[in-house]
Amino acid sequence: MPQRLGVFGGTFDPPHRGHLAVAVAARERLGLDRVLLVVANDPWKKSPERSVTPAADRLALVEALVRGADGQALPGLVASDLEIRRGGASYTVTTLRELAEAHPGAEMFLIIGRDLVDEFASWHESTEIERLATIVVVDRPGYSAAVKRGWISLPVEPVDVSSTELRDQLRAGRDVSAHLTPAVMAEVRARNLYRVGASA
Ligand code: ATP
Repeated sequence: MPQRLGVFGGTFDPPHRGHLAVAVAARERLGLDRVLLVVANDPWKKSPERSVTPAADRLALVEALVRGADGQALPGLVASDLEIRRGGASYTVTTLRELAEAHPGAEMFLIIGRDLVDEFASWHESTEIERLATIVVVDRPGYSAAVKRGWISLPVEPVDVSSTELRDQLRAGRDVSAHLTPAVMAEVRARNLYRVGASA
């Protein structure tokens, strides 16, 4: 049986329960061997608009996310530093090519939120992305774009949260424990991110 590999890329600034719900649902419902949560080194669509948290910090947060509540890794979920090691702007097509080379014969599934459906055509070499992987679109509250022929639409339990909201709430000193796992919150504090101090 060829390996079934989920590729879930993001800025993860910070990673939240919405991301976790997507990764877990995709792995279980599509029978994936692994879901790689690929942390963007330089998210080229976002970085001109705002300052993005350093990649090493965001990777540590995603590692905390997949570590699970009791320090036991969540089965099949892997924090990937592939794009960080490559450096530069993070293009999904390059990531898929590298993964195809590293895992010959693997069947790849690129998981994206429904908010990204309309912009997908503007991604670097989007036709090649579609050739390399099956596109899986997960529901995201507030978005309803239809999927293209050949893509998979995967309903997931709605988790109405975005990293942008969470950054704002953290900076305002609000309690975001409903949206961040305890391990991620601990890492945010330890690294003094989003101006949340170690003693805060
Ligand atoms: P930001 O608010 O900073 O733009 P974000 O919350 O959209 O960030 P990203 O790291 O950009 O998070 O998202 C990575 C992937 O996760 C994308 O495919 C996005 O569509 C998806 N995603 C993010 N949040 C959710 C959510 N609440 N439900 C479903 N999918 C989500």
